[in-house]
Amino acid sequence: MRAGHASGRNGFVLVRRRLVQRLKARGIRDARVLAAFEDVPRHDLVPEALWGQAYKDTALPIGEGQTISAPGIVATMTAALGLTGGESILEVGTGSGYQAAILSRLVSRVISIERIPELAQKARVGLEALGVGNVELLLGDGTCGYPEGAPFDGIVVTAGGPDVPRPLLEQLKVGGRLVGPFGPKDGQVLVRMRRTGRARFTREELGSCLFVDLIGRNGWAV
Ligand code: SAM
Repeated sequence: MRAGHASGRNGFVLVRRRLVQRLKARGIRDARVLAAFEDVPRHDLVPEALWGQAYKDTALPIGEGQTISAPGIVATMTAALGLTGGESILEVGTGSGYQAAILSRLVSRVISIERIPELAQKARVGLEALGVGNVELLLGDGTCGYPEGAPFDGIVVTAGGPDVPRPLLEQLKVGGRLVGPFGPKDGQVLVRMRRTGRARFTREELGSCLFVDLIGRNGWAV
């Protein structure tokens, strides 16, 4: 552990408050979302050698060629779900567990799927250490969703796929939203889909972004 910085919510408190100020400046207005970012110790979900960078607005390596997304994009995606509390959310791409920990503060239930066993195991340990109790972690191909837990009020896809996986749209409640990065591997668009009827969806583009690949049956090939 670094001198002067503790694990858990008591470490990096002022640094985290500054991060929240930057998220506000970036246009995040939802007070509950901002409170979640102030609460969740991102440093505990990255290797200790990277603690000094944990509250910069950058993606960081978490092993297995994957990254924890930058806080700014995590905040944008979380806010885009329009959460009011009580929702059931599916996350595709657990990675470090940071997005899941943020969501856990905002909704009743989070199911998060990761395809790489080593990352799923690290996230399990990290979320347990944070005392997160309402996140269920699954190992598998999240592009197929999780029919057993559907329908979901919201779905967040945290890796970049060629297009929105059809099974995920089918697992969304009417009125629900799906947010994720879709498009070519070298640059995607952050897309928000809303299910407005049994077979009706609207699509909005929220800006450009760059994510690691969404690999699976309804994503990119391995
Ligand atoms: N939400 C993560 C966080 O807070 O750290 C970001 C993780 S990273 C940008 C994307 C993750 O998606 C990687 O861990 C990758 O292994 C995972 N992934 C890619 N394709 C997947 C799939 N089909 N199903 C589940 N996870 C997948």
